[in-house]
Amino acid sequence: MVGESGCGKTTTGKSVLRLIEPTAGSVRLKEVELLTLAPSRMRAHCRDMQIIFQDPYASLNPRLSDSEIVAEPMRNFDDPAWRGAGALRDRLAWLFAKVGLRPEAMAKLPGEFSGGQRQRLGIARALALNPKLIVWDEPVSALDVSVQAQVVNLLMDLQAEFGITYLFVAHDLAVVRHISHRVAVMCLRRIVEIAECETLFTDPQHPYTRMLLSAAPVAVPRARTTRTLPIGDPPSAINPPAGCRFHPRCPMAGPICRETTPPLAPRGSATDVSHRVACHLAS
Ligand code: SF4
Repeated sequence: MVGESGCGKTTTGKSVLRLIEPTAGSVRLKEVELLTLAPSRMRAHCRDMQIIFQDPYASLNPRLSDSEIVAEPMRNFDDPAWRGAGALRDRLAWLFAKVGLRPEAMAKLPGEFSGGQRQRLGIARALALNPKLIVWDEPVSALDVSVQAQVVNLLMDLQAEFGITYLFVAHDLAVVRHISHRVAVMCLRRIVEIAECETLFTDPQHPYTRMLLSAAPVAVPRARTTRTLPIGDPPSAINPPAGCRFHPRCPMAGPICRETTPPLAPRGSATDVSHRVACHLAS
């Protein structure tokens, strides 16, 4: 999921896990509607859904050892498979090895780690309960570029090995293109385009998506690029404009855009329902 800062990406990720209670809508994990579950029934599904936060410094308890941090979810859910000191120790050793941390790291505190090592520790904690879904909230934006590449490759390896679904929230389009199968573009708390990754990057239909892609830096310093720039500043996300939320900045806006909210609909003949766009003028 991509979009400008403040558009609602993180809120969406937290809402999926009910870390924030959504005011409307629906969240389904497989066939189960999560938003109507009582807390006691929701707890049973919590172990299937984990989150990695953006800040690897603030998201780990500095007073717990690394092994205690990773063991905490297993103790909370008291899974019989890891009950007992020996089984838990074996599981911890396996998790630390899986994310590329040495066994001696288990006895350390998070404060003795670099940012990349802390993020690996967060990944080990997220994997501890064999989740089906992990929400990654800007997991590499706080890391150096070289460490970013290591962590991104680790995420891809883990997904290939365990078949976990990722909701990957980011604003670095190069990373998103590298890691994603499907991409949703969010503008002022609404998804305005969703498509298979390569389709979105090679054939974007929404003016906001085109603006985001054209603003991304290119790897060739002297390459000539044509930028599609929006008009003015982003409107307030708390009090968004009527009609299409992008209309105050859209160079193509017409009268209908100011009055009617475009639905997120399949483009064109609707033969490819996987590519949906919320724009009155999308072909
Ligand atoms: Fe622009 Fe209108 Fe499309 Fe909104 S609906 S993106 S204002 S053309």
